[in-house]
Amino acid sequence: MRAADPACLFCRIVAGEIPATRVHDDEALIAIRDIAPRAPTHVLFMPREHIPSAADLTADDGPMLGALFGAAAEFARSEGIADTGYRMVTNIGAWGGQTVDHLHVHLLGGRSMSWPPG
Ligand code: 5GP
Ligand code: ZN
Repeated sequence: MRAADPACLFCRIVAGEIPATRVHDDEALIAIRDIAPRAPTHVLFMPREHIPSAADLTADDGPMLGALFGAAAEFARSEGIADTGYRMVTNIGAWGGQTVDHLHVHLLGGRSMSWPPG
């Protein structure tokens, strides 16, 4: 179990110290609405544990990742965006566009996506 980082924004959201709109909450994960949505649906799925980015994952994190994508699929169905499709993406490091160093997977939907991302 990695220790929470008191300086980490998402650790503070996980702990409930900073408010966020939760759409999923279980022992391993939470999901929150993005504060600056880039699509009609924009939700961030993240482990409760402080994992800086996807580059820090190990094989032991497999169950958590499976649960994350399962929770995301369930959320997409409940949000009514599953049939049209949606995008899940995680940014790593500065050039990847990562601004919060606590692993999170964006779920974007409700509109058609272009490729490649900018
Ligand atoms: P990244 O740029 O690291 O891939 O994604 C970070 C995301 O977190 C951004 O989409 C940003 O809008 C979102 N974000 C930043 N601060 C907050 C916050 O305080 N609350 C919520 N709900 N989202 C945030
Ligand atoms: Zn954190």
